[in-house]
Amino acid sequence: MKYIQEAFDSNWIAPIGPNIDAFEEELCQYTGSRHALAVSSGTAALHLALLAIGVGRGDIVLCQSLTFVATANPIMYVGATPVFIDSEPVTWNMCPNALEDAIMHYLSIGKKPKAVIVVHLYGMPAMLREILYLCEKYGILLIEDAAEALGSEYQGRKAGTFGNIGILSFNGNKIITTSGGGAILSDSAEYIEKARFLATQAREPVLHYEHRMVGYNYRMSNICAGIGRGQLEVVDDRVRQRIANFQSYSGHLAKLQEMNFQKEPIGVFSNRWLTALKISKPPSYQTSVNNILNELNKNGIESRSIWKPMHLQPLYCEHQYFGNNISKELFEQGICLPSGTTLREADIDHICKIIANSLVR
Ligand SMILES: *Cc1c(COP(=O)(O)O)cnc(C)c1O
Repeated sequence: MKYIQEAFDSNWIAPIGPNIDAFEEELCQYTGSRHALAVSSGTAALHLALLAIGVGRGDIVLCQSLTFVATANPIMYVGATPVFIDSEPVTWNMCPNALEDAIMHYLSIGKKPKAVIVVHLYGMPAMLREILYLCEKYGILLIEDAAEALGSEYQGRKAGTFGNIGILSFNGNKIITTSGGGAILSDSAEYIEKARFLATQAREPVLHYEHRMVGYNYRMSNICAGIGRGQLEVVDDRVRQRIANFQSYSGHLAKLQEMNFQKEPIGVFSNRWLTALKISKPPSYQTSVNNILNELNKNGIESRSIWKPMHLQPLYCEHQYFGNNISKELFEQGICLPSGTTLREADIDHICKIIANSLVR
């Protein structure tokens, strides 16, 4: 409220102003990124990220299949072709082996992919070492979709700072919010300046209105940046609360052998934005998953299925896909549990009892 009041008092009710500059600076401090650009959504951030690194018409972009549709759509906005890559079973993110298969395939037909988009699903960092190795080996640019992963770390460094560009989302459901917003992170001043230029209608730096390129209206408002500054002060508390939810769920459900959570490999720290689990007891998992979703719903408790992979969506099912059906299994056998920061221990206990009673034995 203090930062929003300052915006009103100083009459900076606009997509420029002191809260935006400060929010960008504070995002750099928090993540360790050299530069940051605050924008109107995570989707806009991905669109600008692709434009900034020069992805365009006819380019191939290798994209994690198991994700929210907003990861893939910006590839279409720029006229490039998304090709979908399966998950590995540990972190549920992009499988490095499937990624290398895809790269080899496109190299063999003389069509080098332009970029890779990796996602840190539900806050869990992907296998970045392997993915960075492949991107460097074959000279392919990396975009990190860290929309769900603010506060997560990989080998002591914040998620979103490993790729050539990283993006964050501050939508209402994310770990912190600006009511709606996003950001681009990069160590490259050139990428950030190009994105900033395109986000402000690509207006040339002259006195009159001069335009050489198609631009966008993608800047964050100074009011929203004020909300973001306040939210950034509590992000570590939010992460602690989400992790406490996860620990409580995994403690309660430990005795049920068919429950598999996303695993934090050594050196990885997940913000546990959502606690998600996979039920692995064939052939009854399908009934169990449906029972759990129905029973929770009957008790007035919201839960969600895992993202439906992009290569199985009517929108993208004609596109190329590389993998072994891990993401399909996660979709069919997975559930996202209630994960809000206001959950109490008694709530989680209640939810876990419903889950245990819904399993098909
Ligand atoms: C939320 C989300 C986005 C899009 O962010 P918005 O701010 O809602 O546009 C992109 N990718 C992933 C993985 C997300 O969860």
